[in-house]
Amino acid sequence: MNVLVINAGSSSLKYQLLNPATGALLAKGLCERIGIDGKFTYKPQLEGKEAIKAADIAMPTHNEAIAAVLNALVDAKNGVIGSMKEIDAVGHRVVHGGEKFAKSVVITDEVMAAIEACNPLAPLHNPANIIGIRACQKLMPGVPMVAVFDTAFHQTMPPVAYTYALPYEYYEKDKVRRYGFHGTSHKYVAQRAADMLGKPVESLKLISCHLGNGSSVTAVDGGKSVETSMGFTPLAGLPMGTRAGDIDAGILEYLMNKYGYSIGEMLNILNKKSGMEGISGVSSDFRDLEIGAEKGDERCALAREKFAYEVKKLIGAYAAIMGGVDAIIFTAGVGENDGLERMAIASGLEYMGVKMDEDANNVRGEERVISAADSKVKVLLIPTNEELMIAMDTAALVG
Ligand code: ADP
Repeated sequence: MNVLVINAGSSSLKYQLLNPATGALLAKGLCERIGIDGKFTYKPQLEGKEAIKAADIAMPTHNEAIAAVLNALVDAKNGVIGSMKEIDAVGHRVVHGGEKFAKSVVITDEVMAAIEACNPLAPLHNPANIIGIRACQKLMPGVPMVAVFDTAFHQTMPPVAYTYALPYEYYEKDKVRRYGFHGTSHKYVAQRAADMLGKPVESLKLISCHLGNGSSVTAVDGGKSVETSMGFTPLAGLPMGTRAGDIDAGILEYLMNKYGYSIGEMLNILNKKSGMEGISGVSSDFRDLEIGAEKGDERCALAREKFAYEVKKLIGAYAAIMGGVDAIIFTAGVGENDGLERMAIASGLEYMGVKMDEDANNVRGEERVISAADSKVKVLLIPTNEELMIAMDTAALVG
């Protein structure tokens, strides 16, 4: 069975064709500048097939982008499948499923209406996801489609975790609550962790640290998300590449009054100019911060230190709410590649049974145990694979 995985944004669209049973990737790529001029990238994973890099293909809408993807996949010379019939299902990443979706679902008209009803909760993302689904429905009639939500995995959080201490009517009337994001990634690495430890996920207390450009930490108790650091929006929790994470809401009023910022300008600062970039004044990228810190730039060093400090704080908090932890997982760009940052986060936790193995930790992007053999709490490096998780959910639903 082959599943086409689509992650549609407003002007870009990422795709992968995978076999969820074997995990084999047949092809992947990217459509960019949709609605502008159109750039198409295609990377077949089969030997002898040629890639296409940022080719000019007119893409006035997502329909032309999906058509370009399908043409490339079935191309006589460089395609990876014989015909469209070899695409058995399409799995769509959808950012927000609100309280309606606690699991992935087969897309029907009713489901589409429910996803649309979640648009106000993710106004930049959900409408683009819907456009991607409609384009696929148009070009691939009859092919079953599944929606996989970033928020779904966290719907198991108890009220005590998801309730904000605001007037309760804002939850009841307006659905203002913690939702959490990166759910597909946290779910995938939690399952992989259980496989690596040779234990059922139902028996484990895990802390999953998805540390990339956007970052979140999730407490996974018995395979279920019970707490996560992102909130009503992905702006909450950890400081990130350019996002502030949790701050005192009173700061907004103070800065807006002082500098005459509109709420839009203020949010732009919190989303795009804060986090690692804000503290360092140099970059949002942890590699640049490492180079800066090595050269003696104190603010680059402070940014990296702040990030590790906040992740460590969450690990302590999440161990406390679960009453212990069996394994800590590192994943995503920083979690998979930045051994120094992992070490800064996980060192000093010996009191709770975490003992790192420095040599094992000296690795990038490889699934392995990076704690010492006698560490009571295992520390695991697990490269995330959201597309494979989407393909697996899709295959499970369409059979
Ligand atoms: P996104 O949240 O956009 O999916 P990723 O998970 O791809 O982000 O993470 C991207 C970030 O990972 C980069 O901004 C960079 O800070 C970090 N990163 C990637 N490779 C490395 C590396 N080799 N060393 C340190 N940090 C890295």
